[in-house]
Amino acid sequence: MEHNEVGTRKHSIVIGAGLVGALWSIYLSKLGHKVSIYERRPDLRTRQADQGRSINLALSHRGLHALERVGLKDKVSALGIPMHGRHIHKDDGSEDFHPYGYGEESILSISRAKLNALLLDLAEEDARQHQDRPVFFEHRCTSIDLDTPRASFVDEYRNVDVSVQPDHIFGADGANSTLRSHLMRKRRYNYQQEFLEHGYLELDIPAQSDGTHALSKNALHIWPRNRFMLIALPNLDGSFTATLFLSHEKDETSFSQFKNPKDFREFFDTTFPNASKLMPELEKDFVANPISDLGTVKCFPWYHEDKAMLLGDAAHAIVPFYGQGLNAGFEDCRLLYEAILKHGDWGHAFEIFSNERKADADAIADLAKDNFIEMRDRVVDEEYLRVRALEHTIQEHFPKRYKNLYRLVTFSDTPYQQARQMGRQNIRFVKGLLKHPDIDIPIKDQTALALLQQRVEAFLE
Ligand SMILES: Cc1cc2nc3c(=O)[nH]c(=O)nc-3n(C[C@H](O)[C@H](O)[C@H](O)COP(=O)(O)OP(=O)(O)OC[C@H]3O[C@@H](n4cnc5c(N)ncnc54)[C@H](O)[C@@H]3O)c2cc1C
Repeated sequence: MEHNEVGTRKHSIVIGAGLVGALWSIYLSKLGHKVSIYERRPDLRTRQADQGRSINLALSHRGLHALERVGLKDKVSALGIPMHGRHIHKDDGSEDFHPYGYGEESILSISRAKLNALLLDLAEEDARQHQDRPVFFEHRCTSIDLDTPRASFVDEYRNVDVSVQPDHIFGADGANSTLRSHLMRKRRYNYQQEFLEHGYLELDIPAQSDGTHALSKNALHIWPRNRFMLIALPNLDGSFTATLFLSHEKDETSFSQFKNPKDFREFFDTTFPNASKLMPELEKDFVANPISDLGTVKCFPWYHEDKAMLLGDAAHAIVPFYGQGLNAGFEDCRLLYEAILKHGDWGHAFEIFSNERKADADAIADLAKDNFIEMRDRVVDEEYLRVRALEHTIQEHFPKRYKNLYRLVTFSDTPYQQARQMGRQNIRFVKGLLKHPDIDIPIKDQTALALLQQRVEAFLE
């Protein structure tokens, strides 16, 4: 069966109705295109999302900026819970709070399913104005002819083959992208995939009987345990989604050591006792939920002429420890849209966007891997805490002019590569300051503060 189009409007198809595919289709409608999305899975709005599990993620400035560009920031923000910092649960039972940014800066904990459903509703709303059918669910992309271009699908509901010949094909089909596997057949294609030894398991911390959160609500909770960690992000319904990041089998403590749910509970009771008490369904979650892999994908080029282009995880899948995978995917949409508006010629825009963006994608991939060590281990290290505390003091006095690496990545549009470079310079500078005999944390008096301000002023100059 052919899904070919007639008419004057250009036709773009998007493979994947995940978060990036749904947002990009809204951008494409703004560019005046007829858009069709093809998604392998059934419609998440008509089935119980993720087998009833509530899975969330952290959305920050870059993602929100991309939503704002198409007028959706407020609608999406209403679905989220602001998290102002990290609430640390140390292994001696003590707790600490590390603010993320300065003043009101915060990241948003948001349900994946709710965000995806909202974006799909909005994508459909755009298309309905033109009497288009925008989303074909249960259509699995099986092959792509890049030159024509043509994409082929199996309609898994009706068990028939479908093909479509649009003007442009966008692959927002995630880390195992089918479009990328076809780009990889080109000569001299660069591709690199790397798995972490660690995997992850999602668990539930339900709401208390009165519907309130069992832990402080406006924070990302972390239980750092050196080689592994537990984290928890709040949901609007009073629950938290907790995620255990642990070695599959190599480390002394690893998923492979749990022979049954009882072992798992004992591990929680001794390792995360305050969390364990809040998790009545731990054994059930252990049996029901998968242990998933964590990997990084780097590849290039991301496009073929003006005919095909990768976006989001399909182009650059990263590990989740900077909370930037989706933010980077949404930022792709904004930057590609701006490149198309600026250059007009789509092939040229694909080339310019990809060439500029590739180094940024590689930078955030590497930062995300480094941040795993920071979250699971360094957040309780003395030297790290002194650097963070001094940076915090500097940011209080120079909130606009001094941004540490975390703020540059999370609360700015600074390209990731530049953010990494600036952030590293800043850390070197702060470590140098801490060697000065008159500067320590907390700042002891007005003279020390004046000296600090003078040094920072000179550095910023
Ligand atoms: C544990 C974890 C926590 C994370 N936390 C955060 C966070 O806090 N903040 C953040 O910014 N990012 C986070 N991320 C990363 C984020 O989840 C991804 O970057 C984001 O989901 C990528 O979106 P996407 O649309 O590119 O890909 P996906 O979400 O993978 O969507 C791809 C879509 O394509 C469909 N598809 C695949 N193949 C085909 C095919 N052949 N035919 C048709 N359809 C197909 C899939 O069914 C899917 O719907 C996290 C990731 C993990 C694993």
